[in-house]
Amino acid sequence: MVNLQRRHITVLDTCEECKVQPKDELHALWSCSKLTEVWSSLTWTQQVTDAQVSSFQDLLDHFMQISNDYRKEIFIITAWSLWNRRNASRRGLPTQPLHKITQMAGSLPQEFLEAQESTTTIPEPPPVHNWCPPEAHIFKANFDVAVFKSKKLAGLGVVIKDWRGEAIGAVTMSVRLAQTVVELEAMACRRVVKFAREIGLSQAIFEGDSSTVIKAILEGPSDALPYGHVIEDICVQAMDFQLAAFTYVPRNCNVVADALAKKAKSCRGTQVWLEELPEDIAPLACFDVH
Ligand SMILES: [Zn+2]
Repeated sequence: MVNLQRRHITVLDTCEECKVQPKDELHALWSCSKLTEVWSSLTWTQQVTDAQVSSFQDLLDHFMQISNDYRKEIFIITAWSLWNRRNASRRGLPTQPLHKITQMAGSLPQEFLEAQESTTTIPEPPPVHNWCPPEAHIFKANFDVAVFKSKKLAGLGVVIKDWRGEAIGAVTMSVRLAQTVVELEAMACRRVVKFAREIGLSQAIFEGDSSTVIKAILEGPSDALPYGHVIEDICVQAMDFQLAAFTYVPRNCNVVADALAKKAKSCRGTQVWLEELPEDIAPLACFDVH
């Protein structure tokens, strides 16, 4: 809430649970009075006093210094469960009662270890639902591709920026090489539209440097194109938006998406960043102006 208020997305920064204090990371995961029943049930966490920690980072540092590895895990999993619970509650989804959180935190490491033993495949990351952006603003979403011929792979890169040009999310993913680069561009466009939906945007301008793909979307689905089904997916998903516009931009205005696509060469599967860009790509954001 503190971050949202700082970005002028909400008016108040007050915690929705206790309705008393501003809700920053430390409050949301630790100091809110509503969470007392969770943390007090882990008596060994109670040695930390308010004077010792002024941020969640302080708290994390504190618990990472304790020698008992199991307690470190329980602290992390409990905080993680509280974070997920808060996100689910924001989206009106069913949530675990607070008194069950620590019990769950105790059983998850076991479940994780068992899952590690029984499978060697890397699971798909869960869809991203972290915050609700304002309805009134239009976001810019860029996409691009990179081809890694020798690996028979391609990279898709997408980035979404707010009305001030600050990145609010980015995705890098590697996919099997398609028949044509245009088809890959269409897939990258489909990914960015999906990502925009996942993070809850309702108004976005999608920008790519493939004029062929932009033209195909504007003309609507066509059976004549080998990648017509991808264009159709994009058009169908676009109908969920209050506003979804598709425009062509020159490559020098699409630098971040291009760098994210190239990054897929060194990443496996899909990687998602929220409210920030990967460190090596963030400096490029200032080139993406037009
Ligand atoms: Zn609170």
